[in-house]
Amino acid sequence: MNFADFYKESIDNPQAFWAEEAKLIDWHTPFAQVLDYSNAPFAKWFIGGQTNLCYNAVDRWVATQGDAAALIAISTETNSEKVYSFRELQTEINRMAAIMLSLGVGKGDRVLIYMPMIAEAAIAMLACARIGAIHSVVFGGFASHSLAMRIDDAQPKLIVSADAGSRGGKAVPYKPLLDAAIDLAGAKPAHVLLIDRGLVPMTSVAGRDVDYATLRAQHLDAQVPVTWLESNESSYILYTSGTTGKPKGVQRDVGGYAVALASSMKHIYCGNAGEAYFSTSDIGWVVGHSYIVYGPLIAGMATIMYEGLPISPDAGIWWSIVEKYKVTRMFSAPTAVRVLKKQPPEFMKKYDLSSLKALYLAGEPLDETTSTWISTELGVPIIDNYWQTETGWPILSIVKGVEDKPTRLGSPGLPVYGYNVRILNESTGQDCGPNEKGVVVIEGPLPPGCMQTVYGDDKRFVSTYWTKIDGRQTYSTFDWGIRDADGYYFILGRTDDVINVAGHRLGTREIEESISSHANVSEVAVVGVEDQIKGQVAVAFVVLKHAEVAATQEGRKAQEKEIMGVVDSQLGAVARPARVVFVNALPKTRSGKLLRRSIQAVCEGRDPGDLTTIEDPISLQRIKEALVI
Ligand code: ATP
Ligand code: MG
Repeated sequence: MNFADFYKESIDNPQAFWAEEAKLIDWHTPFAQVLDYSNAPFAKWFIGGQTNLCYNAVDRWVATQGDAAALIAISTETNSEKVYSFRELQTEINRMAAIMLSLGVGKGDRVLIYMPMIAEAAIAMLACARIGAIHSVVFGGFASHSLAMRIDDAQPKLIVSADAGSRGGKAVPYKPLLDAAIDLAGAKPAHVLLIDRGLVPMTSVAGRDVDYATLRAQHLDAQVPVTWLESNESSYILYTSGTTGKPKGVQRDVGGYAVALASSMKHIYCGNAGEAYFSTSDIGWVVGHSYIVYGPLIAGMATIMYEGLPISPDAGIWWSIVEKYKVTRMFSAPTAVRVLKKQPPEFMKKYDLSSLKALYLAGEPLDETTSTWISTELGVPIIDNYWQTETGWPILSIVKGVEDKPTRLGSPGLPVYGYNVRILNESTGQDCGPNEKGVVVIEGPLPPGCMQTVYGDDKRFVSTYWTKIDGRQTYSTFDWGIRDADGYYFILGRTDDVINVAGHRLGTREIEESISSHANVSEVAVVGVEDQIKGQVAVAFVVLKHAEVAATQEGRKAQEKEIMGVVDSQLGAVARPARVVFVNALPKTRSGKLLRRSIQAVCEGRDPGDLTTIEDPISLQRIKEALVI
């Protein structure tokens, strides 16, 4: 089939198009209507249809391929490897679901999952889906402050966690951070379910904390029936990194999400039941939700969960996994590939990678050098795909399963079916011509699988993302882009201020707020600066209240260390700036807005651009000078 026709049908005739795609999943009760957009920009998909994500991911495969591998949990941190067949996975999910029910969790209740990359994390997510509880996974690298904010917003009845994660062979305790977060939070969970990996000792809060192994032993034969949910009920909340300080809880539905995943697994990722899928992301991110846990399982594939570094025990670890499990489709991020690129190439050559058909990369711009290098080394196509936590699945990609169109270096490809993507001129709001830079937007309705709303805040959903243009609701991605004459898109960066450190998304505002809490900090600006390995690193420019403490080299070092410590304890080490530079003033516009883009340009040795609105041009010069001290 020709992709242009397939795409056109999805935009011109979404009802018929998505009714066809909806056949890829099992429905307990068929839907009465495909799309209700009467309350735009809120789109409802598959109204009246009843289904369940856990049923589609696990139960429906038990009958036809119960003994096939479903979840492969590999940890090079604890040297463990366990394969769960679909039947075994179903059994474990039933046990977990029974534990949750016994702790009073029911349909619509929130369960916060703060876990390392271990099988129980996926099992907990699927157990929530089974009983209609709404999970909210919080990335294990976040420290107490970030966690507390998410606890307060989601108000979970239950938190599922573990004693520790592990990184580079060193245990990273979770429990003390979790305890501190619960102390900080206004909302208190009734229970905390703890998976004791035996990595570090834990203290237990009587009446609140319960041990997973003990409860599991009590529910070994549990059979928990699937709770059928109307397509538009909610499956999960996942927080974006948040530029405003208060993260947005992206809320997702059930039926639309299941259909979008089944459809994208078929047309974009081209996975077949019985094959193995390996995504190197983390369950704390949207890729982990869509393409570690739900997507591959809904497609009947075995999914690999990997805890460990990409270069430990050596840089061949991922490729040895590909060989062993005959992985056909792999998903990673450009930053991970840049790490591997620094390693000797023989590690890749040591393994038989003939099973691998394609490598998908997403999350940040894929530069041409990285793309060309990995494609040559692996001898498979590299498929760049562009999307957001909000959309849950790709907005731009090459839809290989429909038509194997050529990729173009530096471009994630064409708009994916279902997404009416446009590029608008920022000042005029008019469509941009070929190669003209503008804001990437999507005309509503968003296709199935995209966010329903901001959790608990419909107003924020509308005011943050939507603008009415020529009477039509338009969703902003907040990314700059251009489209070339052949319709290929190129993403040029964000219109807001979020940085991406080694694949972790961090709001510069969040880091700034944290640094501001240090007693001697008067003003701060954090910008992302290009870094060969990590993609970007955070650099903080700080104006001190008592500048004299930073008069000497030792003084500066000590003050920098203290400030980094504040960020470590509030946000976690991922958010720690690579450098703290002390200056006397920050460049601002006359209206008092920080000129982050200009600071960033100076840091990267670029021209700072139009400075007509700058209040004090000397401040930018001083930044330049401070950088070389
Ligand atoms: P927040 O919404 O809180 O600011 P965030 O945008 O960092 O957080 P994500 O939803 O994970 O969180 O990231 C989506 C963004 O990542 C996109 O809007 C885009 O800027 C960038 N991105 C993702 N994939 C690609 C890609 N293939 N090429 C270029 N940029 C990409
Ligand atoms: Mg975003």
